[in-house]
Amino acid sequence: MAKIAVSPIPTFATVEQVIEELNPGYPVYCLRPAEIQRQAQYFLENFPGRVLYAVKCNPHLAVLRILYDAGIRHFDTASLTEIADVREHFPQADCYFMHPVKARAAIQTAHSVYGVGHYVIDHVKELEKIVESTGSADGRVILVRIVTPAHDVQYQLSDKFGIPADQAPELLRQVHEAEFQTGVAFHVGSQCRSPQAFADGVRTALEVIQKAAVPVHYLDVGGGFPAPYEKDHPPPLEDYFSAIHEAFDQDILRRDCVLMCEPGRAMVASGCSLLVQIQLRKGNKLYINDGIYQSLSETLLGKIKFPARLINPQRNLSTTSQDFKILGPTCDTVDILPEPFNLPDDADEGDWIEIGQAGAYTNAAATRFNGFFPETFVSVDAPPLLPAT
Ligand SMILES: *Cc1c(COP(=O)(O)O)cnc(C)c1O
Repeated sequence: MAKIAVSPIPTFATVEQVIEELNPGYPVYCLRPAEIQRQAQYFLENFPGRVLYAVKCNPHLAVLRILYDAGIRHFDTASLTEIADVREHFPQADCYFMHPVKARAAIQTAHSVYGVGHYVIDHVKELEKIVESTGSADGRVILVRIVTPAHDVQYQLSDKFGIPADQAPELLRQVHEAEFQTGVAFHVGSQCRSPQAFADGVRTALEVIQKAAVPVHYLDVGGGFPAPYEKDHPPPLEDYFSAIHEAFDQDILRRDCVLMCEPGRAMVASGCSLLVQIQLRKGNKLYINDGIYQSLSETLLGKIKFPARLINPQRNLSTTSQDFKILGPTCDTVDILPEPFNLPDDADEGDWIEIGQAGAYTNAAATRFNGFFPETFVSVDAPPLLPAT
């Protein structure tokens, strides 16, 4: 099959070169393809099972292309748009429909147009919807998403989705009786700082499987693997992988069961920085061209602290620093970052700030509120901007 041509994004050696050539008054996402590739390969080589990428975290086509080229072939998708984006550009890739609540038309189209074979549910009504929309099971897989106890996470996801573990065996039996292959899935919550949370999730899932007493073909430990941020240094990924492996390995059920994970954040956070410009300085306040309604909602919703550095290739920056309050471009008073950036104390209008670890939930969550919508992507050969250790 012919490869679909995608216009490549412009490549620069460094972020300074981006500034010199574009002089951007608009935000610019600076991708680090080598870093994204490295993270993807780390998961593929070290996670003891199948690796899916959670598309919602950063659905930009350039990011999907880098991941695909690095060997990712399985994609966790939550909507028909995400499924179409993946399947139209990467016909060899598999999409998994991991949103527990789906429109009937989306189920039907995912099945008949895109051949989606894996679906997640957390309620019997959703099983009925899938059966009514797609007919016989025909080798397809339905995973039951269960609630797991939350600890040490930035976002708790079990408030919204998941069936309590004591009700899950019955739903698993119903899936089995409808002749689907079965699976159990959980999501410990995003930016999870505890490898133990995954081990507990695996144990809860194995208990559910034992009680259900039907064959179970998949165990999906979800996403939630953390990325390092400013003053937030979670354990290395290998600790998570070995905790999962240990919990999974204790049980003989593993022999018939494929282990899966669905990382978003840990796969792509470090692979992109965000270049913003200061539009006005008022005392210790800096007004910039990106904010809460665009790339930086996680500073508020997830209390994420991004590393930041001031850049202006045209002048020498002060060697002493101070905290600045950062204000976004929209007219809304919510549009103020909750934590200051520490920058050289002569920061001023026209200087740029590079914000690191900005590959996850930035462009993915941006709105067009007030007409500010960052959409410029470049690729940079330089190493990522990491948080201070
Ligand atoms: C958001 C989400 C993910 C990815 O979560 P991260 O914390 O970014 O790893 C994976 N699976 C599901 C079902 C999700 O909703």
